Amino acid sequence: RAKRDGGGAFCAFEPSMDVDLRDRAALEDDLRSGIQRGEIIAYYQPIFSLRSADLVGFESLARWNHPQRGMLDPGTFIPIAEDLDAINDLCFTLLRQACRDLRSWPAHLTLSINVSPIQICDPDLPLRLLQILYAGGIAPGRLIVEITESALVRDVELARATITSLRNAGVKVALDDFGTGYSSLHHLRELQFDRIKIDRSFIEALDGFAGSKIVKAIVDLGQSLGMPVTAEGIETLEQATMLSNLGCTYGQGFLFGRPLPPAATLRMVIELEDDPNLLRAVGQN
Ligand code: C2E
Ligand code: MG
Ligand code: MG
Ligand code: MG
Repeated sequence: RAKRDGGGAFCAFEPSMDVDLRDRAALEDDLRSGIQRGEIIAYYQPIFSLRSADLVGFESLARWNHPQRGMLDPGTFIPIAEDLDAINDLCFTLLRQACRDLRSWPAHLTLSINVSPIQICDPDLPLRLLQILYAGGIAPGRLIVEITESALVRDVELARATITSLRNAGVKVALDDFGTGYSSLHHLRELQFDRIKIDRSFIEALDGFAGSKIVKAIVDLGQSLGMPVTAEGIETLEQATMLSNLGCTYGQGFLFGRPLPPAATLRMVIELEDDPNLLRAVGQN
């Protein structure tokens, strides 16, 4: 919500407004040890092909299973992890978990992870991610690194170096929350991505005239640049159908599935393998 009110446009993402300062100090104390104790866990949200209705992979979304406060969303603790210089630890912990989870999924399924602005300017990032993949026995071609637009404005040159080495190693790179930054087109011109993810706010506005034209323009732009487009935040069958008709390649959202803990994710994978027609309805429209 913060974003639409105008305040969030320059933030890496939307921090929870209900966390007051005292709360934040307490969370800071807990976070480092929480990471060490394995309280940060990966939830997985499914991503589907809007063409074939096949499951193509999952995005890992961080959750903090806080011993007193229960399950916390990333908006509460990612900014703290960034400030505490603990964002690498958090990210690598999640990727190690994901490598273990991935072993029980079919090999064609991809894993998308989110990296922070701070990380994308770190020249050591590619090697550290690749080391975790190799140690976990996961092919680099299965990993998609999502970078939010606002992450890139900090230092395009440094980001370019990181993105290039990731891509040279076979890792795919996606531009996340496309359209919400103030230099979206600049980034597309200056940097090489494999995917574009249209921000949820555009999907919400699909039923309007301008909204649908803008999404169509983004999808066409992605197509002409050779970057398949993923729509995030799909909540209705109407939205999925419209996006499919506009030529959008992939879709993600509550319609297809909320972020799930690892065990439930595996059950979903198995169910879809057993009954691949479960979600055909979308592809047929
Ligand atoms: P994101 O990468 O753009 O992820 C999509 C967010 O939209 C997720 O929120 C997801 O739960 C939510 N979402 C997905 N489908 C729908 C839908 O149909 N309707 C609605 N209303 N929401 C939907 P979540 O999990 O709270 O994550 C928020 C943001 O936190 C992410 O945005 C990402 O930027 C960041 N984040 C999450 N995990 C990590 C992480 O491990 N590292 C870093 N650096 N950032 C992370
Ligand atoms: Mg993302
Ligand atoms: Mg996004
Ligand atoms: Mg987002």
